[in-house]
Amino acid sequence: MDLHSGSPYWSIKNPMLQQVSALDKDLTTETLIIGAGITGALVAHELCSTGMNCVVVDKRSIAGGSTSASTAQLQYEIDVPLHQLVKKMDEKKAVAAYKASLKSINDLKKVLKQTRVDGEFQQIPTLLLASNRKGLRELKEEYTIRKKNKLPVEFLDAATLKGQYNIDRHGALWNNTSAQIDCYKTTIGLFNHHQKENQLKLFPYTEIVAYSKSDKGFTVQTSKGFKITCKYMVIAAGFEAGKFLPEKVMNLISTYALASEPLTVKSLWPERCLIWETKQPYYYMRTTSDNRIMMGGEDIPFKNAKLRDAQLPKKIKILEKKFKGLFPDIPMVTDFSWCGTFSSTSDGLPYIGEYKDRKNVFFALGYGGNGITFSMIAAQLIRNKIFGNRDNREQVFGFER
Ligand SMILES: Cc1cc2nc3c(=O)[nH]c(=O)nc-3n(C[C@H](O)[C@H](O)[C@H](O)COP(=O)(O)OP(=O)(O)OC[C@H]3O[C@@H](n4cnc5c(N)ncnc54)[C@H](O)[C@@H]3O)c2cc1C
Repeated sequence: MDLHSGSPYWSIKNPMLQQVSALDKDLTTETLIIGAGITGALVAHELCSTGMNCVVVDKRSIAGGSTSASTAQLQYEIDVPLHQLVKKMDEKKAVAAYKASLKSINDLKKVLKQTRVDGEFQQIPTLLLASNRKGLRELKEEYTIRKKNKLPVEFLDAATLKGQYNIDRHGALWNNTSAQIDCYKTTIGLFNHHQKENQLKLFPYTEIVAYSKSDKGFTVQTSKGFKITCKYMVIAAGFEAGKFLPEKVMNLISTYALASEPLTVKSLWPERCLIWETKQPYYYMRTTSDNRIMMGGEDIPFKNAKLRDAQLPKKIKILEKKFKGLFPDIPMVTDFSWCGTFSSTSDGLPYIGEYKDRKNVFFALGYGGNGITFSMIAAQLIRNKIFGNRDNREQVFGFER
């Protein structure tokens, strides 16, 4: 399956990781991480930082999966709004999921600071717009439950929204805890750092096709007939991880994105905040360090890559029209466009940890439209599990929740 197609902006903007090639012999390691996207990079960071010996493999290039297609907005809001999540699970757990997501943004910032990786992390506010009257009612409900649970949120009425942002909508929720990154650069940077500092080994173009239990842990097979022996396995294989799971836990979604030509700083909206809306399918947007607008959305259920790709021109036109409807005075011209696949679960939460009795195989499935915050949580939770440290987030994100 192609995880994306078209021209994702990040993989044109950034150089590829140099001097790595496919595995060409058998090897032994303590931990094998399958998947070299942002999730694999953060897991490698957490484990290598403890001195653990790690190997990362990917059947594509490094960071060549969904990570290169991501618009990389970091928000504590999960795909399912809190007022709806509490109808699907215990309120305490739902709030814990939101709080874990909030904390993970700051944790990612700390990782970049500690490793001195320039992932273009920028702390900026988020505006969640009411698309219509129904959206306004939903926002009010959402505001009430977030306030009650001491989550950062402000309500902006239509007049404030118009006055401060020149946006004509019924209202919005605002908070100042979000961020944006260059997800591709972050991933490459973290791998590079641990290659140099901790002898992390990376093998692109190395597909794992099977694994079995052995005396010392696991024997893992690549498609080219090589074996990797390891004590622990981490499955950070993104939306193709289903192959390693006996149970279907996700639905695939096609999503569409564009990056505009650079604009003048003056022509962009105030605060350059992240913007998204209540209506489904929603759109989302941000700006980049070279003053482009990056916008995504128009999600539809994934059937196959060919059908997804055929819709790209039509979907980009819709996104452009929606942009014009929101900001008629900003002269946005599309420069790059692409489509990608991401995955959703019934409660909008990822699956992290061991699956039932499969000991020492850890899943890091940062699913959802806000998957990157989940990748950070997965990396910490898996490190804690391996080292026997209690982590209450397991009850929220584990398979047994
Ligand atoms: C258009 C788009 C916009 C998005 N916007 C946002 C956003 O604004 N904010 C946000 O938080 N998230 C966003 N997401 C989601 C986010 O990008 C993903 O959650 C994140 O990139 C997933 O990272 P990953 O490392 O888990 O997966 P991937 O980057 O897909 O990496 C998994 C890797 O595993 C490899 N692999 C799979 N199977 C095997 C195998 N058998 N053997 C070896 N390797 C294997 C794949 O080749 C792949 O490179 C967006 C996604 C898309 C597509």
